[in-house]
Amino acid sequence: MKIGFIGLGIMGKPMAKNLLKAGKSLVVFDVVGTAVDEAAAAGAERGASPAAVTAASDVVITMLPNSPHVREVVSGKDGIMDSVRKGQIVVDMSSIAPLVSRELCALLEGKGAEMLDAPVSGGQEKAEKGTLAIMVGGKEEVYNKVKDVLDLMGKSNYVAGIGAGQIAKLVNQTLVGINIAAVAEGMSLAKKAGVDPEKVFNAIRGGLAGGQCLEDKAPRMFEGRYNPGFRVNLHIKDLGNVQETGRALHLSMPLVAQVMEMMQNLAADGHEALDHGSLGLFYEKLNNISLKK
Ligand code: NAD
Repeated sequence: MKIGFIGLGIMGKPMAKNLLKAGKSLVVFDVVGTAVDEAAAAGAERGASPAAVTAASDVVITMLPNSPHVREVVSGKDGIMDSVRKGQIVVDMSSIAPLVSRELCALLEGKGAEMLDAPVSGGQEKAEKGTLAIMVGGKEEVYNKVKDVLDLMGKSNYVAGIGAGQIAKLVNQTLVGINIAAVAEGMSLAKKAGVDPEKVFNAIRGGLAGGQCLEDKAPRMFEGRYNPGFRVNLHIKDLGNVQETGRALHLSMPLVAQVMEMMQNLAADGHEALDHGSLGLFYEKLNNISLKK
C-alpha cells in the first residue's frame, strides 16, 4: 500500500518518518521545500502537488494547520479532488472544525472516495515516539482498512461518524485549556498565601487533582520553562473551533470563553509561540506575583 503524506511540519514530519521506518512506501508534499527535502532524505518520494500525491498513492494522509489549509489541499488548485479515485481513502489528521471535515467528506464521497477525520493528541514528542492518541471519525469499515497504518503513528480509537474525531479533539482541547488555567490559578493562591507552590504540588499530586496537566505544567511554571510543547497560537486556533462548534449548537461554554481571553492576552503580550503552560505568566501578571522557585 502506497501512502501519500501532505503537510510535513512539527507533527507531520515525525509521523511520516515513523511510516517510513515501518517499511511503508511514501510520496510526500509540503509547500515548504526543505520539509520535503528532509522526508526525501529519509526515503520518501517527492510529489509535485496534492493532486500528484493523490494520483501516486492508495491512501492520502493530511497533517495541516487548520480548516482553510485542508480545504485548499482537498479542493483548491491541483488539490486532492483533481485526481482522487473511487474507493481511495483520505485521512485528515489535522485539528480542524468538524463542520469542515463533514463538508470535505461530502465532496470526496461525490467522487466515490472515502474520508476519515483522525486528529491527534500528544505533541511533537509523542509524534516522534509513535505514541500519539488518534481519535477517528468516519465509516467504521473504512477505519478498519487503515487502522494498521494509523497504529504505526500511535494508538487509534474509533469514535463515530465523520467529524466525531474532531469533536473528540475539541473536547480534549477544552479539558486541557481549562485544566492548565486551573493549575495556574491554584498555584497563584498558594503563592499569595505565602505557601511554596512546589510543596503544594507535591502534597496534592497523588490525590484527585493529580493528572497529566498538573504533572507537565506545574513544574514548567515553577521553572519559568515555557518552550513549546504546544504553542499558545495553536490552542487559540483550537478554542476558536470549539467556540464555533458550540455557537452552532447553542451551547453555553463560559469556561472556554474565559480561557480564550487569557490566551488572547498572552498572545497580545507576544507569547503566542510559547507553550500553553504559559497561562502561568497570565496569572503572574494578573496578581503581580512570580510562580518561579
Ligand atoms: P506546522 O505548522 O508545524 O505544520 C504544518 C505543515 O503544513 C507545514 O509544514 C506547512 O508548510 C504545511 N502546509 C501548510 N499549508 C499547506 C498547503 N496548502 N499544502 C501543503 N502543505 C501545507 O503544524 P503542526 O504543529 O505540525 O500541526 C499540524 C496539525 O496538528 C495542526 O492542526 C495542529 O493543531 C495539530 N496538532 C499539533 C500538535 C503540536 O504539538 N504541534 C499536537 C497535536 C495536534
